[in-house]
Amino acid sequence: MKLEPRTCPLCGSSRITSVLIDEDIRMAALTGLSFASRKVPEGMHYQMVVCESCDIAYANPAPDIQWLHDQYVKADFDAVAESRDAAQNHGRLIWSMLSKLPDIERVLDIGAGDGALLDVLRGMGFSQVEGVEPSEGPLRAASDENQAAIHQGFFSEIDLAVGKYSLVTCFQTVEHVEDVKALTRSVFRLLKPGGLFLIVCHNFRALTARLLKQRSPIFDIEHLQIFSSASLRYLLDDAGYEDITIAPFSNRYPLDYWFKLAPMPTKLKDLGQRLLCVTKLSQLYVSLRAGNLYGCGIARS
Ligand SMILES: [Zn+2]
Repeated sequence: MKLEPRTCPLCGSSRITSVLIDEDIRMAALTGLSFASRKVPEGMHYQMVVCESCDIAYANPAPDIQWLHDQYVKADFDAVAESRDAAQNHGRLIWSMLSKLPDIERVLDIGAGDGALLDVLRGMGFSQVEGVEPSEGPLRAASDENQAAIHQGFFSEIDLAVGKYSLVTCFQTVEHVEDVKALTRSVFRLLKPGGLFLIVCHNFRALTARLLKQRSPIFDIEHLQIFSSASLRYLLDDAGYEDITIAPFSNRYPLDYWFKLAPMPTKLKDLGQRLLCVTKLSQLYVSLRAGNLYGCGIARS
């Protein structure tokens, strides 16, 4: 893997206010799950710097794209239950947005994984449900119906129907995309007039991230950029979206999963998870505001 210098992926500036975190990459520690969704955090990350003009934190230097693509394609998947819980969390957010949509016809989920959200979207009444997913592991775990509904590969506008979607979602995926600005502009063209683009991502300015510093799971080898409220608004505004809303997003997961994410030594984590199991608390669902944001905007013309 080669690391290459990079300017701000959002505004193109090379002026930075600070180095948010120093690089920590141990190639020998990479596994099939390093580029999987909802894995146990490994604490590996690129050097992340904060852009002076748009307030995005981005990897600089960043890995070469071919290496990154290869890692995503061959990534494993071991998080069926967590994927289902995430789909319920994201489904609740979509439910609260339904009145903003022109209709509930065609919907696209970018970074669809095993398609757990596609099941939720069908349950809400969307008539044509599609996903995009490059990793083979989650696709193997998907149902036949979801395999047929998911475009296998990296997001590309040319594989999709321009001007046809009522809603496009991108949940916990914008951190991973090499050109997030191009993706956001592409989505604008895919939406029908009045269609909504809805993003959920990490917020590096959230209290949890500031308290945990380098122990925060948001610093990860999968993340090429991490947003704040200001940079998420910039992303949507720059692409021409209107009626932009940016707000904190709470997640509801069983205590067992919160322990999986918790920044503590593995032995302590194992002990905690065993205790939860013995006390039958591991499947107790708890809602936490753990430093996530949602952002949405409408594509009018
Ligand atoms: Zn910038």
